[in-house]
Amino acid sequence: MTTNRTRIHHRDPRHDLPMAAGGDGPFVIDSAGRRYLDASGGAAVSCLGHSERRVIEAIKAQLDRLPYAHTGFFTNEPAEALADHLTSRAPRDDLRELGHVYFVSGGSEANETAMKLARQYFFERGETGRRHFIARRQSYHGNTIAALSVGGNAGRRAVYEPILLPASHIAPCFEYRHRAEDETPEQYAIRAADELEAEILRLGEGSVIAFIAETVVGATAGAVTPAPGYFQRIREICDRHGVLLILDEVMSGMGRIGQLYACDHYGVVPDILTCAKGLGAGYQPIGAVLMSDHIHDTIIAGSGAFQHGFTYIGHATACAGALAVQRVIEEDGLLENCRNMGAALRGQLRETFGDKPWFGDLRGEGLFIGLELVQDRATKRPFDPALRLHARIKAAAMAEGLMVYPAGGTADGRAGDHVLIAPSFIIDETHVGLIVERLDRAIASALAEAVPA
Ligand code: PLP
Repeated sequence: MTTNRTRIHHRDPRHDLPMAAGGDGPFVIDSAGRRYLDASGGAAVSCLGHSERRVIEAIKAQLDRLPYAHTGFFTNEPAEALADHLTSRAPRDDLRELGHVYFVSGGSEANETAMKLARQYFFERGETGRRHFIARRQSYHGNTIAALSVGGNAGRRAVYEPILLPASHIAPCFEYRHRAEDETPEQYAIRAADELEAEILRLGEGSVIAFIAETVVGATAGAVTPAPGYFQRIREICDRHGVLLILDEVMSGMGRIGQLYACDHYGVVPDILTCAKGLGAGYQPIGAVLMSDHIHDTIIAGSGAFQHGFTYIGHATACAGALAVQRVIEEDGLLENCRNMGAALRGQLRETFGDKPWFGDLRGEGLFIGLELVQDRATKRPFDPALRLHARIKAAAMAEGLMVYPAGGTADGRAGDHVLIAPSFIIDETHVGLIVERLDRAIASALAEAVPA
């Protein structure tokens, strides 16, 4: 048994985890002095690496001024400044402007909040019959009960299934696995999106609150980008039926794909947008829910206030940290670096792995990259999930001094083992080379162990 007392969450209870003791740019250093190149940002969190002085100083300065003041009594300067920063850069169209923000402490809280906000919006309008959420299979929206209920991650749901809220799950938009050979990407996008309309009609006109989706799918499938036109069609369907569109950008947002808001890249504006992870870059725990002015104004003109709240909403120190993170990203032109290094990394990954017998798919945008491994390239048959190839890759990569974020496939072949690669936006070509080199050795060693020749 181990000596760690804090790791009930970890899969292999026989081994202690290394003790993280320091940070140096994109490296995490353990208590034995070993350096790990963080190529996953933890779980796509640490977009500025682990030692950004400007953020650390901003947090210290805020602690000196005022650590926290309850939002039932006050607003605070960092929260208002961060709200200005986020809303002034938010996507908008003729119908929607995301002009108001609600700050929480992480991604699950953000999605839980978004769902309640959407429900209250319809309550204020007298549309109280709206009570269904529609989401997608192969999605993850967080671990609190409502967020887990809309998520489609079978593994994370299994234990809790009997206590989850009812929610519908339509097919994900996942070209590599679901586009038919005789279909163009555009035709496939329409087919995938039209499942939403069918489900709205099945549940009954006027009964659906919102459709929630990750703009780019993260943990469950590994940086799956939408097929061209998918979200435009989704937007049309939502508008046609008065259903709200909630985009979960907890992982894919805040610059991860090379643009502050991922939905901007795909030309769609949601009614509610959630973000977290990269917002505070791990320097502070923080998430945000951006809402259209129309939703905000309807609630204010109705019962007057959102019936919701957490002790730490609008936390002054968390907001000061996140504001500093967002300013560093702009000052240093890191979105551009994210796009450039993303292209370089994807290029090298394809060059190194593209001809391997196990190569399934390489996908993603910016520094949000998924590499899928398969047993058989022609049929796309995944490796047997019992081999736990993804876990072996993670362990082998750690032994190489590399952090990546692998996840498993499914027995029914809906997905294969994949590796999510999401390094910080501060990496350069040397780091790109190191990531590919170490990952190459890690995958070779994991495969040799899992499927000996
Ligand atoms: N939504 C998405 C897309 C995520 O990837 C995650 C976390 O991985 C969450 C929500 C939940 O965020 P948190 O773990 O901060 O509660």
